[in-house]
Amino acid sequence: MSRNQARVQAISQITNRTPKAVTMPEPLSKIWASDVFNLAKMEQCLSKNAFKAMKKTVQTGAPLDPATADVVAAAMKDWALGKGVKFFSHIFYPMTNATAEKHDGFIIANSDGHAITEFTGSLLIKGEPDGSSFPNGSLRMTNAARGYTAWDPTSPAYIMHTDNGSTLMIPSVFMSWTGEALDKKIPLLRSNTAMDKAGQRVLSLMGEAEVATLNSSCGAEQEYFLIDANFAASRPDLTLAGRTLFGASPAKGQQFDDHYFGAIPERVQVFMQDLEDKLYKLGIPAKTHHNEVAPGQFEIAPYYEAANIASDHQQMLMTLLKITAKRHGFVCLLHEKPFAGVNGSGKHVNWSVGNATQGNLLDPGSTPHDNINFLLFCGAVIRGAHLYGPLLRAVIASASNDHRLGANEAPPAILSVYLGDQLEGVFNDIKEGKLLKSELGGFMDLGLSQILKFERDPGDRNRTSPFAFTGNRFEFRAVGSSASVSGPLVAMNTMLADSLNWIADKLEVELATGTSKPEAAIKVLKELMEAHSNVIFGGDGYSAEWHRAAVEDRGLKNLPTSADALPYFRDEAVIKLFSSTGVLTPVELESRFEVYSEQYLLSIEVEAKLVVDMATTSIYPAAIEYLSQLASTSSAMAALSITLDNSVAAAVASEANAMMTAVSTLNTALAVHDFASTEEHMQYAAGTLRSLMLEVRGHADVLEALVADDLWPMPKYSEMLFIR
Ligand code: ADP
Ligand code: MG
Repeated sequence: MSRNQARVQAISQITNRTPKAVTMPEPLSKIWASDVFNLAKMEQCLSKNAFKAMKKTVQTGAPLDPATADVVAAAMKDWALGKGVKFFSHIFYPMTNATAEKHDGFIIANSDGHAITEFTGSLLIKGEPDGSSFPNGSLRMTNAARGYTAWDPTSPAYIMHTDNGSTLMIPSVFMSWTGEALDKKIPLLRSNTAMDKAGQRVLSLMGEAEVATLNSSCGAEQEYFLIDANFAASRPDLTLAGRTLFGASPAKGQQFDDHYFGAIPERVQVFMQDLEDKLYKLGIPAKTHHNEVAPGQFEIAPYYEAANIASDHQQMLMTLLKITAKRHGFVCLLHEKPFAGVNGSGKHVNWSVGNATQGNLLDPGSTPHDNINFLLFCGAVIRGAHLYGPLLRAVIASASNDHRLGANEAPPAILSVYLGDQLEGVFNDIKEGKLLKSELGGFMDLGLSQILKFERDPGDRNRTSPFAFTGNRFEFRAVGSSASVSGPLVAMNTMLADSLNWIADKLEVELATGTSKPEAAIKVLKELMEAHSNVIFGGDGYSAEWHRAAVEDRGLKNLPTSADALPYFRDEAVIKLFSSTGVLTPVELESRFEVYSEQYLLSIEVEAKLVVDMATTSIYPAAIEYLSQLASTSSAMAALSITLDNSVAAAVASEANAMMTAVSTLNTALAVHDFASTEEHMQYAAGTLRSLMLEVRGHADVLEALVADDLWPMPKYSEMLFIR
């Protein structure tokens, strides 16, 4: 009997599927943000005063009074009920990359037996999920389960439609009963405040009369794979781990470079259009989409927004990618490395900071004044990336992203900054005092002309840099495709806050001695560059020479695995960074280390168990079945005095045996549990467990190339990547 029924059925279902009809996209003006309770809707249904108060809260973070909250709650409820909504949910983002929601009905029964709808300000402001099942580090004991969600009025409420009905979603923060941050939103909001405060200091010292609230912005480019659901269903590794733990390289992979920016397959286009209609209704500005490098890989990039909103939208995007893919018979893989030997997926986080009065402070700009501000902010980022490089590596650490970083397709695990030739030249001149020697006017001209040139021609791109300046923003390219953007944004905002405070302290001293503002700024930047220029690197980040020089000559850290990176959450300098800026207390930071380490260990252990299971219960039986077929054919042939070459049988037998020996070693290794510390446990998982998994896989992949195709139990790479 054929063992590959699932494969055969999958292929037949895919080839015989009726294509989903292509529908015309709905006009943007009709659907844009139609499911969002945004300021425009509030203006229509709130009193003038209530609207003014809400607007101020949204734009500046000013506190909202409870009476206004009551008015907003009532209007929100009426709007939602008018759109057929029965439930509401405080939606929040626990310390994993997940999104969490608990649905409550608007309905209450009153004493005379009637059902009425109710939604007050206090219901809007606070929810109380039993949060004990959410990872909390040691922040809360299981028996002390109380956790609160609290409405974040700065991120608009919206309606999520599913087959199960429509729900009003209220973006919220999530905290423990004792007030500690248990989520990804609280630190993000706090980091923005810290950056705002520090930025205000620098800008006022530089003589800016009016400085509006500073905010960080984020535009995230999301890469993903689409695999037919029929294939995914017959691969336990894809279903449970999100990636293939086995699979031989196909004859054709991505060598032809014929997928990147190629024509998007029709079935995928229909999916993308459906997805984009949904995103537009939710006010998510999906702007570009295209094929990525690997077959079956695509990218979607929404236009950038305020970091807090962009982060919420990113989570919604990931949820909608999955839900919509399902409706189109696909499974959307957000894993960083679903297929070995094929490009992985990242999420480039484009980040800038600015405000209504000074504009984008990472834009070189066109007036001298702006340029000095730009140099200070850009310099602050350089300092931050140098001092807290290991933290930037730690916030993107996960078992899944480890497969991608440093794999010669993605940025290395060494944190360096790419500025581009011209900007690097400007900062080098500052370091060498060249700009300082000129008259102030001369320096302005010199600095300005270079920067203007830079602005017109941002120079080449450096695909190998993990952290690159791209004209008017930094692009953090090492972030994983399945990750929340919050962690990276928190780290960037916080290190920027720290550097801006350092700059402000230095500026205060310089200015007190009567130095002019631009001169003081350049002096401070010179000192900054003398200490931190080592982090700037414009060369090939993939090269072996850089891996040597970065560590030996420049003193940068190469942290190849999460086991190497995550302990930096316990680093003295990092603890001080977060507590001095008020972003995370030492206890909150420690809880993050615990949660992320636990996630890391769990991911690897689940995968290792799956490797044992799949090798034993499906790959080994296929190999043995083939051997038995070969053996019986061979003896039947012998009866006819025909001798069959038995080299294939011998190879299958020896690979199958070797695989099972490796499985048994892996099984034994999985049973080891006594570790002196979490750090030691993580190193064990990163080293011993992962290399044993690879050993099992090595034999299994050789078997895949030997065993008769009709006996192979799982869809192969060539099928999953190319058939759709
Ligand atoms: P590429 O693939 O060439 O890097 P994309 O256009 O795909 O560029 O994505 C660039 C992302 O950067 C988009 O999300 C875009 O909105 C965002 N972006 C552009 N300008 C800024 C900025 N000043 N701050 C933050 N993000 C920005
Ligand atoms: Mg990009």
